[in-house]
Amino acid sequence: VAHYLQNIKEKETLNAFLETFEEEAFAQADTVDQKLANGTAGKLAGMVIGIKDVLAYKGHSLQASSQILNGFKSLYTATAVERLLAEDAIIIGRQNCDEFAMGGSNENSSFGPALNADDTTRVPGGSSGGSAVAVQAALCLASIGSDTGGSVRQPASFCGVIGMKPTYSRISRYGLIAYASSFDQIGVITRSIEDAALLLEVMAGPDGKDSTASQREVPAYSQLLSSDKTYKIGYIRDCFENEGLDTEVKDCILNVKDMLREAGHTVEAVDFPYLDYIVPTYYILTTAEASSNLGRYDGVKYGFRSNNVTDLNSLYKKTRAEGFGAEVQRRIMLGTFVLSADYYDAYYTKAQKVRRLIKEKTAELLESYDFLILPTAPTTAFKLGENAANPVAAYLEDIFTVQASLSGVPAISIPVGRDANGLSIGLQLMTRSFDEPALLAFSNYIL
Ligand code: GLN
Repeated sequence: VAHYLQNIKEKETLNAFLETFEEEAFAQADTVDQKLANGTAGKLAGMVIGIKDVLAYKGHSLQASSQILNGFKSLYTATAVERLLAEDAIIIGRQNCDEFAMGGSNENSSFGPALNADDTTRVPGGSSGGSAVAVQAALCLASIGSDTGGSVRQPASFCGVIGMKPTYSRISRYGLIAYASSFDQIGVITRSIEDAALLLEVMAGPDGKDSTASQREVPAYSQLLSSDKTYKIGYIRDCFENEGLDTEVKDCILNVKDMLREAGHTVEAVDFPYLDYIVPTYYILTTAEASSNLGRYDGVKYGFRSNNVTDLNSLYKKTRAEGFGAEVQRRIMLGTFVLSADYYDAYYTKAQKVRRLIKEKTAELLESYDFLILPTAPTTAFKLGENAANPVAAYLEDIFTVQASLSGVPAISIPVGRDANGLSIGLQLMTRSFDEPALLAFSNYIL
């Protein structure tokens, strides 16, 4: 704990942590020491973990990196976090992210961006940017983030670490601040597959506090990490033909593909005809859900309230105008628009139908192939400010991560190379729902 706190202090300018929980972390470390001495320590004994500022931890500030939650403290602990603590993990602090997890560069945080430790003029990705940097720069052993459309995988790719989003519903969302509820999943950012497997198996499983959490039994992922099978792998041809794809990223991922083939796996090109539709579908549905989820921040129930109000309406308006950042406001307006009576069928209903097509096509491909491989992101970490003035360009960065989110299937990003600037390149793998064991084992094999 002392080691990591020292690192956090020394690398404060990376802006990865919003706050550390020094006293409690030391107290928990003492407890774990005692348990280790008397043989009662849990599976995660001594693992020092950071949590994204969207996960509730009782008695601690929780803001989703937003000013609208300034001053708010959690009244309870997220199920996932509770399970980590029950297995004797040590929670060292809360981590910077894009406001309400909306973004892919951490530049939408009201606390300013976290910086990529490989090149501090570049973004760490997002929205779990602080969480990825924290693992990249050894400020903690592992981080817990959330992934709605790539927020764990893309920053992991930009920071040269592992990021995994399990199957939708595998981990309870109780105590996770909602962005788009039919997409949100808690995920892990780690340096090793073993750590990812261990953390997932501890957090996953049914939960009486989240009716959408799957009832399926959780396999002991960490005991299932060896892979000696030969697999059938599909690489999505359309992704590699995408004009936004950087050539160094493309070559690197195609190289991995060739290596897998040489190693005896069957690797084939597959067609995914909906690539052009996935980003619009994702943004219509997530902004719709977000506009509804964020209705609760009205200045009455949580955190921040504007000072200069005259009546109830101005309380709502001023609190929301002052408390939400520009990107969050943009998404609330977009979501409200696509849900409005005149446009509901043209956008929201249509997008739901397209989501079903995407989901069915993905499932169909995964009937014939054990894994689908593609880049995690079309580029490596870009410069701070590069996409700031152009939200559409920023949204298009999500083109490779949102397919898994729209379909609900598990996906992982693993570091497989670096570009000429020394920036990390991530390979993404998707597999069938609830086949986390195969995904983890095969990733372990590749690494
Ligand atoms: N970049 C995507 C978005 O802004 C993904 C965010 C996420 O997964 N939370 O919506």
